[in-house]
Amino acid sequence: MSSDERTFRELGLSENLLRALDDLGYEKPTPIQSASIDPLMAGKDILGQAQTGTGKTGAFALPLLNSVDQKLNAPQILVLAPTRELAVQVAEAFGSYAKHMKGFHVLPIYGGQSMHQQLSALRRGPQVVVGTPGRVMDHMRRGTLKLDSLKALVLDEADEMLKMGFIDDIEWVLEHKPENSQLALFSATMPEQIKRVANKHLSNPVHISISTTNSTVESIDQRFVQVSQHNKLEALVRVLEVENTEGIIIFVRTRNSCVELAEKLEARGYASSPLHGDMNQQARERAVEQLKRGKLDILIATDVAARGLDVERIGHVVNYDIPYDSEAYVHRIGRTGRAGRTGMAILFVTNREMRMLRTIERATSSRISPMKVPSPETVAERRLSRLGEQIQETINGDLDFMKNAVAELCQQLEIDTDLLAAALLQQVQAERPLQLPAIQERQRDSRDRDDRGSRDGGRERPRRDSRGGRPQPTSFGSAEGLKDKPDVKMCRYVIEVGRDNGVGVGNIVGAIANEANIDSQFIGQIQLFDQVTSIDLPDGMPKDVLTHLRKVRVCGKPLNIKEAGDTAFPEQSDRPRRPRNDRPRGDRPRGDRPRGDRPRGDRPRKPRDSE
Ligand code: AMP
Repeated sequence: MSSDERTFRELGLSENLLRALDDLGYEKPTPIQSASIDPLMAGKDILGQAQTGTGKTGAFALPLLNSVDQKLNAPQILVLAPTRELAVQVAEAFGSYAKHMKGFHVLPIYGGQSMHQQLSALRRGPQVVVGTPGRVMDHMRRGTLKLDSLKALVLDEADEMLKMGFIDDIEWVLEHKPENSQLALFSATMPEQIKRVANKHLSNPVHISISTTNSTVESIDQRFVQVSQHNKLEALVRVLEVENTEGIIIFVRTRNSCVELAEKLEARGYASSPLHGDMNQQARERAVEQLKRGKLDILIATDVAARGLDVERIGHVVNYDIPYDSEAYVHRIGRTGRAGRTGMAILFVTNREMRMLRTIERATSSRISPMKVPSPETVAERRLSRLGEQIQETINGDLDFMKNAVAELCQQLEIDTDLLAAALLQQVQAERPLQLPAIQERQRDSRDRDDRGSRDGGRERPRRDSRGGRPQPTSFGSAEGLKDKPDVKMCRYVIEVGRDNGVGVGNIVGAIANEANIDSQFIGQIQLFDQVTSIDLPDGMPKDVLTHLRKVRVCGKPLNIKEAGDTAFPEQSDRPRRPRNDRPRGDRPRGDRPRGDRPRGDRPRKPRDSE
């Protein structure tokens, strides 16, 4: 694939789509997008060899959406996908790209979902339908899905559909599509049967595959960490704690994730700054200069912004989001190992992206070795040894007064010095506990949901009531569902911190989001009372996360979180008064950092520049 440097605008996408891409924080088309948008907009068929992680959904969704007639309420684009998860993900991607297109509807349909619900949704005439082959065929046979107005059919992950036994259904759908409609076939691999389908049904297709630059990368120790989207932040923080790091560059995909991650790391005490294409030149140069001089340890960058970056101090490159192709990978990791030094590159991959990892390995003729997320024990060891270093420094000072205090306390409490020391240590470590909860990998369903969450750079807004203003008080004890995520089951919890402690909704969201590593979009209704607060969280929170949350302090008080169950109703005078829209945009309000999240103190704080 030739390197096409055109922007989304130059590729000719409509203003509505450009606005949506800007909202999502996409800075430039990925290689597969640059290559697919032209031919698909010109009405050509394409055969794309690309896997998840390359931006292939946008590669077909954007150009096809460009020619959708919003006033026509009939399916114009049909996408076949192998699984329910993928169908929903792709439908969500269409939805976010088309968010400024008035009257636009997209519908995912898959087996296992109520037929009745699907029928009434189909009657509304969505312009885009994304479905699994069996269910799509079913509706076509019943006459409830008509393809008379179809402009394009997309087969997404065709090899996966083949593996799942859908080949006959696919053939059937292909035979029933209108003759003049376009066909795009995407597949990570090209087994014989897929080639046969391609030869039979594609007419004069443009072939597209992601770059396979054969560059080798030396002097860089390359590792990968397999982690779900949900656990990435926790995994990153552990890696940062354990690795002996100098300067670090962390690569993410979008401007939005760049800002969000910088805020989250800063909240955890890391001297970090975003570096993205929307920052003015001066702000970018300042960030890079600060990294060079050691005033900053971490830059969180997008590919666009990190172009040409040459800082000797960079010992680590972390690919927090997997790059779109091997070329981008080589480019990213080349930011370390400068000036003859050795460097380390760590790549975070979700299950679905494992294939992309192998492609990168092949293309770069290098081995990327697996690396485990540091265990709680390893992190605890590091914390303990750091604590030891700090104590050593203190020992060098004058401690006469304290020695007397120790003797007096031991006498007063009738305990020996060991017990006193242990109790003091317990107090000292409260904010950065030596015992960490284990990372819980969620079940596949929710992992997929998380992966979807990242698709739009995590920009889904917190839920409001239907009028967009104050939340409606609900009865204490039963959780409200998330409006944007009705499939996430919620549970109501109570925490023992309330208005009387000076707590705000922002403190609570910040503490829960950071300490339980929950995306703020999954935090539901919060009601502040004088003594307590109720909060709705996804059902089935792991036990160790709850145990940890119990100890987290906000406004000086431990949360002591527990399921609300039959908790008694607060008095009428204790009714929630604060509107829920005082919640912060991100996970943590600036200058409103929860106690449990204080910086470690052994890292420099990020200089507060007025950017
Ligand atoms: P896909 O390969 O389609 O599954 O996309 C993988 C991820 O890349 C999704 O989270 C998308 O939101 C994101 N993505 C797709 N295109 C771009 C782009 N041009 N810039 C930044 N992120 C993108």
